[in-house]
Amino acid sequence: MSNVTVCVRFRPLSHKERKTNGDKVCFKRLDSESFVFKDEREEDVIFSFDRVFYEDAEQSDVYNFLAVPIVADAISGINGTIITYGQTGAGKTYSMEGPSILHCNKQKTGLVQRVVDELFQSLQSSESMAMWSVKLSMVEIYLEKVRDLLDLSKDNLQIKESKTQGIYISGATEVSIQNSSDALECLSEGIANRAVGETQMNLASSRSHCLYIFSVQQGSTSDERVRGGKIILVDLAGSEKVEKTGAEGRVLDEAKTINKSLSVLGNVVNALTTGKPNHVPYRDSKLTRILQDALGGNSRAALLCCCSPSASNAPESLSTVRFGTRTKLIKTTPKSTSPEVDSIKKPILDSHGQNDLRDRILNKLRLSLKEEDVDLLEELFVQEGIIFDPNYSVADIDSTCQDAASQEVSLLTQAVEELKETVEELTDENERLRGELELAQEAAAAAAARADGVLLGFVPAVAISSLLRPFGFVPD
Ligand code: ADP
Ligand code: MG
Repeated sequence: MSNVTVCVRFRPLSHKERKTNGDKVCFKRLDSESFVFKDEREEDVIFSFDRVFYEDAEQSDVYNFLAVPIVADAISGINGTIITYGQTGAGKTYSMEGPSILHCNKQKTGLVQRVVDELFQSLQSSESMAMWSVKLSMVEIYLEKVRDLLDLSKDNLQIKESKTQGIYISGATEVSIQNSSDALECLSEGIANRAVGETQMNLASSRSHCLYIFSVQQGSTSDERVRGGKIILVDLAGSEKVEKTGAEGRVLDEAKTINKSLSVLGNVVNALTTGKPNHVPYRDSKLTRILQDALGGNSRAALLCCCSPSASNAPESLSTVRFGTRTKLIKTTPKSTSPEVDSIKKPILDSHGQNDLRDRILNKLRLSLKEEDVDLLEELFVQEGIIFDPNYSVADIDSTCQDAASQEVSLLTQAVEELKETVEELTDENERLRGELELAQEAAAAAAARADGVLLGFVPAVAISSLLRPFGFVPD
């Protein structure tokens, strides 16, 4: 079972930071996985992650560690997500796009372009998969609205779920791209559209989340099998705003909405990591709903926590690092979307049919943990089409079972809550309609009464005038 890969990146000190706050930094480097940070009580705390990138790290280092496995998986039909998190100015967009998506030297090229290059290189050199297509969508989430960055007329896209596609953004423009330069052209159009929003919406980009979505479909010539993988790259809004809502004098409601996605993201991570979650609030925000598969374990996920190194930003960097630590506790079991890959990479214990087998094997394993048993277990799993990773310990497998069970419970609880919500909505709607009906009936009755009155008034008037006419009275 794999966890979310969590890395921290400290960018170099900026000129401004040096000028106003000097060269003092907020951490002490230990090695490529750990550093020391002073917490709020000025105590030294050691933080460890899958990898820590310091100011001298190259973009290629980040890409190789974080993204290469995800791109390889996407080509095999497993969805992947890479998220950059951190306060505004901490290096999220730099890590994603480099200094500029189109014009930057190779060394500084960001994750997005590298993902694109690798994707096309792998697809073009793949012999078994003769047909493939890559589609790109780009959306932005701002004030809880999903805006299509490739078609600005679509400014409130809805998120839907289907059995075949999982969770998707309904109606988002999907541009077919044939090669890297096509992709870059399309990406730069989306980024330019984001910039348009920025001037109109007053620095919206630091408050909006930007999602680059690549969908890869591959078909084999030898049979009809098609496999599809999706890579979602997410450049999140500045995380410092979570605590500082309203500080800019904005209307409270608006400020709440600006940060809703980010604070719900925190809640989702908390729910997923605190023991046995029975309700994960994915539906509380657009962002978490879109990332449900990534966070909930149906896809590979990597998080890059971007931090300013300056001592002046220590509180924000500490909160970013803490978010990373919590996310590290999420356990995921990526699922393949393709039947072909299913047979090789099926996660252990993902369906009820395998539970009996699992229990039999586990019981046996518990009795005697000998080498032959592990071999036997492996053989059985292979026979059943389930891969067995010898690195799994009994504890791992046990916790997988627990996770699977609690995830099942969580899904059921969520379904019940959704049903309750629907019932409530329908009851409200019913009441509203009943009210409208009553009003309409009253209005109809009043109209009928008025019509009667007019008629009653009209008849005597006609009668009187016809009586008077013979005497020369003509009322006007
Ligand atoms: P964010 O997207 O988190 O708000 P940016 O990526 O825009 O922050 O980075 C803020 C500034 O710092 C930009 O000028 C960017 O070029 C610079 N920067 C960020 N990370 C690095 C890095 N690793 N190396 C050099 N410059 C960086
Ligand atoms: Mg940015």
